[in-house]
Order: sequence, then C-alpha cells, then structure tokens
Amino acid sequence: MDEARWEVPAGHLEDGDEALEAAVREWTEETGATFPKDAEQVGTWVSEDGSFQGFVFRTAHEEEIELGTPDGEEISGIAWWDLDDLDEPEIRSKLRDSLDRVEPILERAEKASPRPGPGGHREEPLVKHHVKKVRKALAAQVSPPAVAASFAALAGPAAVAGAAALAGLAVSFGATLSISMGALQVAILGVWADSWLAGAKSGRDSLDEHGIRVPSEDPLDQAIDKVDWDKWTPGKAPPAWDLPGFEDVSQELGQLITGISETTREEIVKTVKVFVDGRVAHVPWGPSDVAELAREIESCVNDANRAMLIARTEVNRAMTQGAQDLFRRAGIAWFDLVTHPDACPICVAIREANPHPVSDQADTPPIHPNCRCSTAPARGRQ
Ligand SMILES: [Zn+2]
Repeated sequence: MDEARWEVPAGHLEDGDEALEAAVREWTEETGATFPKDAEQVGTWVSEDGSFQGFVFRTAHEEEIELGTPDGEEISGIAWWDLDDLDEPEIRSKLRDSLDRVEPILERAEKASPRPGPGGHREEPLVKHHVKKVRKALAAQVSPPAVAASFAALAGPAAVAGAAALAGLAVSFGATLSISMGALQVAILGVWADSWLAGAKSGRDSLDEHGIRVPSEDPLDQAIDKVDWDKWTPGKAPPAWDLPGFEDVSQELGQLITGISETTREEIVKTVKVFVDGRVAHVPWGPSDVAELAREIESCVNDANRAMLIARTEVNRAMTQGAQDLFRRAGIAWFDLVTHPDACPICVAIREANPHPVSDQADTPPIHPNCRCSTAPARGRQ
C-alpha cells in the first residue's frame, strides 16, 4: 500500500448525477456517517482546472456526527480536522491547495449575518471562543465514573425491591450529589467580562450614531478606550472584577451558576432513572453495567447543545447589558429592540412596539437565544 495521506471525502459523478448529490453520496459512503440534516451550505468552489467541484457546509456541532469505521482498504482512518492543523505534511497537497478556496467561503459565512448594530460582528467570535470553555466546565461538574459507582453501590440491595424503589433512589441520590461549580464560575465570568465590555463598546458606538455623549470621566467609558478594538480578539478582556460597574452583575451571575448546576443535577437524575428502568430485572449489576452508566452520565454532562445554548444566551445577555449600562450612563431611559434578519415573529412584534423603557426586562435581549437581537438608544414616548 502507498503511504496514506489525509484527504476530503470525494468521488466521481455517476450517470445522471448532480454534482451536489454525488458529493453528499461520496461523503456518506466514505465517512460512514449520516449527512446532518441541519447542515447549511455556505458556498461552493471549483478547482483551477475545472475538474473538481467542492461544497462547503457548516454544522453547529461536528462532534455530534458519529463517524463510521474505516474499511481498512481504501480508507485507513476517518477524523475531523481543525483547518489550522491542515498544513501538516501528511495532508495531500491537492487538499492543501483547495483550502485557499474553502477558507474565504467560511470567513464570508461567519460574517454573513452578525448581530445587528455596531460591534455586532464580535458576537460570533465570542460565542465560538467561550462555548468550548463552557462545555469543559459543564463536563467537569461531576466525575461520571465516581457518580456511577456510588449509585451502583446504593442500588444493589434496592434493585431487588423493583422499579419504583430504584426510581425513588435515583431522586434521593440526586439530592445528595455534589456538583462542582468552580470551573463553571471561571467560564461564566470569562464570558461576561469579555462580552460585557464588547457590548459596552457597541453601546458607545450606537450612542455616537445618535450623537449622544457619555460623560467623559465615566470609568466604563475609559475602560473601553484602553482596548485596541481593531485588534480585539475574544478571551483577552481585563479580569471581570477590574471592570467598573461589574460588581452590579456579579450577584446575578451567582444565581445563574447555581441555576445551571441545579439543571445539571436534574439531568443526571433523569439519566440515572432512564438507565435503571432498563436494568431492574438485571441484578446484581456487574462492572460493565456500572461502566455503561458512567458513559450515559458522561454524555449527559458533556453536552455540546447545552453548552452552545448557555454560551449564546450569556454572550448576548452580557453584550446587551454592557450596551445598556452605557445608555444609562448617558441618561437614556428608553431603548429600541433591533431585530436580526433571522429573528422570530415574537421578536418582530416587540420591535414593532418600540420604544421600551430600560426597566422592561422582558423585552430586553436575549428574548430567544437564537434570535440574536440587540438594542439601540431611543427617545421615550411623549
Ligand atoms: Zn425571538
């Protein structure tokens, strides 16, 4: 066998094939995976000699797509690659060349529909940067093997008493479970420090557009000026507690972190209940049962969708609050909801009822995590 190289899934057109249809077929055959229904086509490219056409799709969570097993003949390995790692020597050179066509397509797609308003383009990089940290922090809230082992130790005798006893045991076990909050605290503070300052900068730009000035000695206004916004990247904000006015949000964050942790507890209890339901007749549990329970708990806490929902919600909330903090400092008492083109009819109706008093929490984004609306300063109703 020739030396193996990494390559993207590809193949030839068969009779009557449309190029896209053939590409999806080859992708499915070679990865052994189901083509994700929610994948969004963001572009296509053709090689210089015109012999290849490539299609670029985006999906929210590639880790949720289960890749198949290589056939060992044509394919000796299947893996996801980070674009940044694709200059390794074991990449086929043709693939490297085509990256010059793929990368601009992806960059355009990222910029296609940012959060509306000035500085809105910072939202997606913030989400992308922080979602990984949030997910790690969620996964670190418990040790799945330890949780599985301690539940199994309790469940041994109870299993004899049947399904109801086991379900009850899962609930009382859940109440005593210790959920670690340290890593989550660090992750959420990171999201907030970063997004709140970026939001304050958006707020100031938005005030500028309306010709409104914040008093120049305002400490938050000065903190904004310490950042070189043209070179800004997520993850480099000053520590949260150094930001003027940040103490006002920290108590709220304590409640948020407790709330997330309680949801983790509930989700673990649900997972354990589902697991015991299938195991009542199967006692006593052996090591492989305990290992399987540990795997179930692992996939419950290490949840990409939940991490994305939290990251999206908190980035949006922090950006909005940062902006509104600056509005208040400039004496603004009313705001307009500015909707994203993808916003839902509920958000559109709220926009049609503009303006809203700044005390109107219910109509302040994030109203829905995926609607990505923002706010602008407004004149009050007469
Ligand atoms: Zn909405």
